Amino acid sequence: MLPSIATVSVAGTLRDKLPAIAGAGFKGVEIFEQDLVAHDGSPREVGQMVRDHGLEVVLFQPFRDFEGLPEPHRRRAFARAERKFDLMGELGARDVLICSSVHPEALGGIDRMADDFAALGEIARTRDIRVGFEALAWGRHVFDHRDAWEVVRRADHPNVGLILDSFHTLARRIDPDTIRRIPGDRIFFVQLADAPAIDMDLLYWSRHFRVMPGEGDLDVTGFMRAVAATGYTGPVSLEIFNDQFRATAPRPVAEEGFRSLMALMDDVRRAEPAARLTLPAMPPRAPVEAVEFVEFAARGVEADQLESLFATLGFRAEGKHRTRDVTVWRQGAARLVMNRSRGDFAGSAYATHGAAVCDIGLRVADAAAVADRAAALGSVAYDQRRSAGEVPIPAFRGPGGELLHVLDPGLTPVWGIEFTPLPGDDTGVGITGFDHIAQTVGYEAMARSALFYQALFPLKRAPQVDVIDPDGLVRSLALSDAAGGLRITLNGAETRRTLAGNFLAESFGASVQHLALATRDLLATADALARRGFQALPMGANYYDDLAARFDLDPAFLARLRAANALYDEENGARFLQLYGRPQGSGLFFEIVERAPGYSGFGAPNAPYRIAAQKRLLRNAAVPRA
Ligand code: MG
Ligand code: MG
Repeated sequence: MLPSIATVSVAGTLRDKLPAIAGAGFKGVEIFEQDLVAHDGSPREVGQMVRDHGLEVVLFQPFRDFEGLPEPHRRRAFARAERKFDLMGELGARDVLICSSVHPEALGGIDRMADDFAALGEIARTRDIRVGFEALAWGRHVFDHRDAWEVVRRADHPNVGLILDSFHTLARRIDPDTIRRIPGDRIFFVQLADAPAIDMDLLYWSRHFRVMPGEGDLDVTGFMRAVAATGYTGPVSLEIFNDQFRATAPRPVAEEGFRSLMALMDDVRRAEPAARLTLPAMPPRAPVEAVEFVEFAARGVEADQLESLFATLGFRAEGKHRTRDVTVWRQGAARLVMNRSRGDFAGSAYATHGAAVCDIGLRVADAAAVADRAAALGSVAYDQRRSAGEVPIPAFRGPGGELLHVLDPGLTPVWGIEFTPLPGDDTGVGITGFDHIAQTVGYEAMARSALFYQALFPLKRAPQVDVIDPDGLVRSLALSDAAGGLRITLNGAETRRTLAGNFLAESFGASVQHLALATRDLLATADALARRGFQALPMGANYYDDLAARFDLDPAFLARLRAANALYDEENGARFLQLYGRPQGSGLFFEIVERAPGYSGFGAPNAPYRIAAQKRLLRNAAVPRA
């Protein structure tokens, strides 16, 4: 299986695309004709450029409106094909994609089309070229891979084969298992793309909304499983037409594609063990047991303010790092780390974002296995300089630029090894651990961030919800695993006027905007917090009137919620209580939640009111900005 991608999938000119594609790990590239025509060098130079990057031209595409034409169009189509064959010779491309005709004068008839392909196959044979036929979902006569296969079968020529594209099959809701009946050696090329479920014109949907496999709603895995079951061993290539990708730097999109393709093929390899996929093995997805720590980079007054907030929240400074200016605070199973040091990753994170979350530690069963999987998906291991006696914890960059560390039972003694205990008693307000981490990213980076986590860990994605901010829309999606060891909400900010967008701008792209801590009894925790001087986000009276209308709540309970500024939601009778703190510095804040078993959400119905309350606070300048 040669991991490949079409040049149309990433932005820029060929000079930008090729290094990005090669750098991300791909081995093959489909040259999209438009990219070649727009290039200012000869096809021969392009071919050389591809090979200089260690890539192979696996396909030249597209060749349109070939089959089923009456004369004189037919003769012209053959002449056109011969010119493209000349070009392919210079380029060093062996395979060409012919997509099913949309020509207004194209005639139907499987045999007529098969005769055309047989004749073209004969010309191609003399040039050592192979011709692949793809059914476009909006083709005039052929719009189903089964018909395209029938044309290829009847053409019965060794230089004529089938090209499959997951979008065209799945968008028309054709059962991908019909592919299993096609001989693998008659399939010349396979293209993959996913797409969100939107009801719209097929052509428009395909040209603008394709996304990487795993980012949309199509069963690309089922499609690829069927392809793998045929014994197909050729290139598997991403062909993604997407407006956002066209407007994003090519390298991150290429990396996103590579991660998507590797994760998908690994899933296929596990589901179709008999398939002959030559793939480097990678460890399976393994669940995160818990968030072990969240680390902040801060200095001076900002660090003091954050640590004083940790104390108000009931955390206790438990250990001081033996060599670095790092303190660990703990309550229950939740650890907050304050890193004031200048030398390590936190130092550069602070220089970029100001006070912000710089590192997240995840507890897993086997840290090396997670790190291996991350590397196989394209993550680069981060090697932090360590002094003698420090524990080598695997780390790699997360989607928001933060460092993700993975710790297993062999590594969690780090707290006793690297830290000197500080005196004091555990008191606390009832925090038991972390409930979720809320990351804010630019809207264009949302799918990429979700893909990152889902490729690595067994996380389910809840449908995206739109959260109304008084100044714009914020899209939000949630990822969580079955046991709740890792829950992440991703907020995509489109404008900087939204709370999320403003946070991104003020923090120069920091990602963790809020941290939600878990308690078993939110109202008791709220009482304890109030005694410590914790200032909750004030919620308006209208919110509680609305709660009373939405839910059948005991008036005394409602009064307690209101007195505590707590928020409430329910899912199938399972309750969810939330308490928000006030935004710090660049806008980071804490949330405390009580989650009943069976509640799988994050209080999305409350989000617009919480955001409005936060903005009210900021506009009234009630919060001194650090
Ligand atoms: Mg295609
Ligand atoms: Mg939250």
